[in-house]
Amino acid sequence: MESQKKFTPTFSFELFPPQSEQGIENLRLTRKKLVRLNPKYFSVTFGAGGSTREHTLETVLEMQSEGYVVAPHISCIGSTKQKIHAILEKYQEAGIQQLVALRGDMPSGMARAGEFRYASELVAYIREAFGQIFHIEVAAYPEYHPQARSAQADLENFKRKIDAGADSAITQYFYNADAYFHFVDSCESMGISVPIVPGIMPINKFSQLVRFSDTCGAEIPRWIRKKLEGFGDDSASIHAFGLDVVTEMCERLLKEGAPGLHFYTMNRANLTSRIWSRLGI
Ligand code: FAD
Repeated sequence: MESQKKFTPTFSFELFPPQSEQGIENLRLTRKKLVRLNPKYFSVTFGAGGSTREHTLETVLEMQSEGYVVAPHISCIGSTKQKIHAILEKYQEAGIQQLVALRGDMPSGMARAGEFRYASELVAYIREAFGQIFHIEVAAYPEYHPQARSAQADLENFKRKIDAGADSAITQYFYNADAYFHFVDSCESMGISVPIVPGIMPINKFSQLVRFSDTCGAEIPRWIRKKLEGFGDDSASIHAFGLDVVTEMCERLLKEGAPGLHFYTMNRANLTSRIWSRLGI
């Protein structure tokens, strides 16, 4: 963890672009609550196919015009250089200075991977076409990406993104701090020394968490799964337990030198705000 201790911790929130009018209104309220906590920035996710991409752009430009510091996510799978370039030009014109650059996942029904195969190629293209205009974040996987050939191959592929010009990383969420510490130590031994900020998922609904975790390869440790299962529909107990577990993990991460925390807010202010205030950030 030595490489991480030199960085000033940064705290940030992730939002997703809503599709409905109601969702848009809810997000406006959520971000008004969250901005009072004084995060370094808000990131806005990018849908891998079709219409949600437009929603990302709209949400980002609206927030930017309201004075928020925004980092749009941009994914390259199924896209072309021309399309990516056009989006980045809009961000540049709007004064966006930070991006989260991803490969993304192939939407069902889409047959062609597009001009970029991996996030490292996207990072290289952004640097080639836009120089140092954007601070580039990439994704990291302390429990390894589900499609990775091996843990070592995934680490090498993570390094490719840093070598291509990424400035820092945000991790997939996890509930096992040791996986993060081990991942960071492995990165250090490969000469990677950029900030690797843990992604934190507050625990809201058990069924939703299981669904997400199965898809993205994040492990829910057995003892946490068993406790959550046992609460059934009792969301007050789920939230209380989840707040304890996640806050304790965040405390440990920060104590050991994590360079901040990135919260997957799921467009809800409540649980994230409560963890934040318990941590005394
Ligand atoms: P990559 O870094 O390209 O890696 C993908 C896989 O390919 C890995 O298994 C890697 O080991 C392998 N690989 C990489 N390079 C090579 C190579 N040269 N040769 C062989 N194999 C290689 N998804 C969205 O659709 N929208 C979002 O907004 C979004 N935001 C995210 C934010 C964070 C912080 C994280 C952690 C994930 C996010 N995702 C998002 C999910 C992400 O798109 C998926 O996890 C996707 O499957 C991988 O994207 P990546 O950028 O990590 O891919």
